[in-house]
Amino acid sequence: MYTGGISQSGAISTDQSFRDLGLDPAVVRTVEREGFEHPTQIQALTIPLALEGKDVIGLAQTGSGKTAAFVLPMAELIPLEQGVRGLILCPTREIALQTKAFLDLFYQDIGLLTACLIGGVKMGPQISQLRRGPDIIVATPGRLFDHMERRNVSVSEVNFLVLDEADHMLDLGFLPQIRRILASVPKERQTFMFSATMPGPVERLAQQFMMDPERVDVLPDGRAAEGLHHRIFMVDPEQKVEALKKLLREETGSTLIFIRRKIDAEWACKQLEPDGFKVERIHSNLSQSQRVAALQGLRKGSHRILVATDIAARGIDIPAIEHIINFTLPERVEDYIHRAGRTARGDASGLVSSICTWQDGEKIREIEKILGKEVPRAKLEGIEPYVERKKTIRGRRRVRRRLL
Ligand code: AMP
Repeated sequence: MYTGGISQSGAISTDQSFRDLGLDPAVVRTVEREGFEHPTQIQALTIPLALEGKDVIGLAQTGSGKTAAFVLPMAELIPLEQGVRGLILCPTREIALQTKAFLDLFYQDIGLLTACLIGGVKMGPQISQLRRGPDIIVATPGRLFDHMERRNVSVSEVNFLVLDEADHMLDLGFLPQIRRILASVPKERQTFMFSATMPGPVERLAQQFMMDPERVDVLPDGRAAEGLHHRIFMVDPEQKVEALKKLLREETGSTLIFIRRKIDAEWACKQLEPDGFKVERIHSNLSQSQRVAALQGLRKGSHRILVATDIAARGIDIPAIEHIINFTLPERVEDYIHRAGRTARGDASGLVSSICTWQDGEKIREIEKILGKEVPRAKLEGIEPYVERKKTIRGRRRVRRRLL
């Protein structure tokens, strides 16, 4: 079931009304029933463009309300005819399932049928869903392509296409499947693309497959949410686990710990469990039901700590995360911003703590550059901080030693 809502999500609202956006009164009534009083920025900007029939590139993060920005106008734009008319491509199973839940919330009354095609689960039940003749499909590119190859589904009548989290889909290596899917949908259609960043390949995808798109940017300045407090704990490598435990005892709210590899996520849980921390993990080696259970447990409070890898966590809608801990910094600075975006949803405030060692110097500089400020160094009681030496000072010392 879809569990979002105003209070939990904290999505930034405008003072406009949904009726102002030109939506059908029946859609507006459903929106109001769900407790959405005002559209969020991305909704206010994109829904009128969608209703005008424009292609739109939405620069927006999860938490901005971007799902409703395409789900609501789609309800009006999709003709009630035979065949798949709407197609939504998502990077991960979690995002696809959340989107399907959102679609059903709004479309059941209108009588639009939806199907969800995601990897990692059996094909059989998905084939049954397809036989019922869905109007809209939400899918991860790999699984949709499998169904297309087996001729279980045709996308040759799609009028409205959404590429959600396009940058993330390309990161996951879905470009070949996306290209082949796009080659099969009609050229005459409307396309919406959402992305939190616009790297070259995403830009090229837009140029090639969109018609004169309007660009709507609701990313916060510096590409990182306002209301976030970032801090770095510099420690010796062998003190990282101890630092993590101390931090978890200091900040007792719901916490998402990021770690780079799946194997490390399992390891981190094993480090924390004996000390009585209620912790779960989410990574791509787990089954779909295990991942859903880990998320639900966090929502309900049966555990307050979730250890996640970037791929598993990006884009998932977990309301009310108070604290993000980077146990390892991500490979790419964009992922630091995405990780931080899991807290301080909308105008709420949130804390991002990174446990770093001397090896992270270069990455810290990149993060500070993109944030446009120095991240304060913080200390934990009983843990000797690693003292960084500024580059220039070290340089001068080396010179002096040579002179002596
Ligand atoms: P999304 O960015 O689509 O993942 O949406 C994030 C959260 O914002 C979801 O939990 C939605 O229920 C919520 N949301 C979307 N639109 C609105 C709105 N207009 N008012 C309040 N909450 C909203």
